[in-house]
Amino acid sequence: MDRIFSGIQPSGEIHIGNYVGAIRNWVQLVNRYDCVYCVVDYHAITIEYEVALLQQRILETATILVACGLTPDRCKLFVQSHVPEHTELAWIFNCVTPVGELERMTQFKEKGRQHRHNVNVGLLDYPVLQAADILIYKAGNVPVGEDQVQHVEFSREIARKFNARFGDTFPEPKVILSDAPRILGTDGNAKMSKSLNNAVGLLEPPEAIWEKLRTAATCEHRQRRSDPGHPEHCNIFTMHQAFSKPDQIAFVDHNCRTAGFGCIECKEILFKNMMGEIGPIQSRVKEINQNPQYMVDVLKSGAARCKAIAAEVMDEVREKIGVKSGWMSQR
Ligand code: ATP
Ligand code: MG
Repeated sequence: MDRIFSGIQPSGEIHIGNYVGAIRNWVQLVNRYDCVYCVVDYHAITIEYEVALLQQRILETATILVACGLTPDRCKLFVQSHVPEHTELAWIFNCVTPVGELERMTQFKEKGRQHRHNVNVGLLDYPVLQAADILIYKAGNVPVGEDQVQHVEFSREIARKFNARFGDTFPEPKVILSDAPRILGTDGNAKMSKSLNNAVGLLEPPEAIWEKLRTAATCEHRQRRSDPGHPEHCNIFTMHQAFSKPDQIAFVDHNCRTAGFGCIECKEILFKNMMGEIGPIQSRVKEINQNPQYMVDVLKSGAARCKAIAAEVMDEVREKIGVKSGWMSQR
């Protein structure tokens, strides 16, 4: 079976953009691929964070993944820092990566603007570590949201550069997009993000979710109830496409365009469908939390399985770049 890798940062509350853009797709792929999924904690420290909160965020993120269906019988789930080969390979990749190309990455520019006071080398180097995450498992496919397409393409370039310099070693990974690859935030402007204040959290209580949806931006052309709307310009409609059934999507589309109903009625339908899907996930998270040892076991065994693959690939890489230490033991 071909292998897949993807990761999620423990950088804040997991939101519905992460869910429909990535996690739900990850679950759908488990039967067709050998899937490796990772809570990428070393990525999350590239922006400011609360040290005391990080452990809890890592565990919460992993618990959500399991609650969504990524159980250890269906995939390998682990925490990035538990398999240090990721950072070791990233260093080697640093040495085949031109700085200028990293400076051109959209995420670096955006996060650099958001965190002006802390534009650290890790933030610039983020795509190199991401390439190492993927390639340490020789994964050929990477299911991500649209915002990460550029980084996956960049990992293809790194694979190509490494292979050209040291011999054929890594595949060139391809992107797999979900059917909802870009959900905007409640502001209707920026991508919904954990680190911006525009997200609908997957674990938020229903009342809080409704309040966020109720006040969320809709199609800007629809100022009054009687104005016909343009679903193709409305983030609420994008969410309907992610959470509602085809007949309801058609119903919403028609009533929006003809001013047949108001935005609140449209949002009520969305809210009901969204809770129908994420309500059971919230219940499973509560169940898993009843037995804290379970997640410890899942993450330990996930790390052990991944470490076995990563160590082998690192051996091959060390040999290829000329630093393998076998010659010392022969003396
Ligand atoms: P941060 O703001 O800290 O970068 P994030 O919300 O962007 O957090 P990540 O952990 O960086 O989340 O991304 C995890 C996965 O979720 C990636 O595959 C990413 O492409 C996807 N994703 C993130 N935001 C969205 C979104 N708004 N719509 C669709 N997919 C998304
Ligand atoms: Mg992100």
